[in-house]
Amino acid sequence: MRSRTIPGSTGRPRPMRLLGDPALHAPCREVTAFDAELARLVEDMYATMYAARGVGLAANQIGVPLRVFVYDCPDDEDRRHLGHLINPRLVSVDGPVIRGPEGCLSLPGIEAGTPRHDHAVVEGLSVTGEPRTVTGTGFFARCLQHECDHIDGGLYVDRLTGLRRRRALRAAARAPWAGRTELGG
Ligand SMILES: [Zn+2]
Repeated sequence: MRSRTIPGSTGRPRPMRLLGDPALHAPCREVTAFDAELARLVEDMYATMYAARGVGLAANQIGVPLRVFVYDCPDDEDRRHLGHLINPRLVSVDGPVIRGPEGCLSLPGIEAGTPRHDHAVVEGLSVTGEPRTVTGTGFFARCLQHECDHIDGGLYVDRLTGLRRRRALRAAARAPWAGRTELGG
């Protein structure tokens, strides 16, 4: 049996940025240096995601404006998908658009039915700069689209309209964390 490091085991959870923090609402920059600092960022992102019991996390959620996300997310068949992507590009989405429950670590405790395609393909790089293609269906496809939105400065509530959007924003305004820009770490 080969011994392998568990993702995040050498990382340190960092404070989570919350709805309204400018870092969440601006597009992130491309990564150009595949160095030890990037490796540390990815490890800290896994540690932060696990500490917050999330299934995905983008770098700007911990205030780092780089195009990086990590995930540990099941699909609808309960298959586990674990990994990270640097400079990800959503290359295709197809299949039916399904409105399903979606939440975000930057709006803790809030969930809303959000429309997403059932199938998504994302291309990017590993932390060492190797090309990667990640394909997702169901809930994992939702996760991939959610994280790609983050690095472009978007949140799932931006995809809501009408009553659903008003309800989610009202819940955020009344949440215990309302008025704060970061949590934990
Ligand atoms: Zn999110």
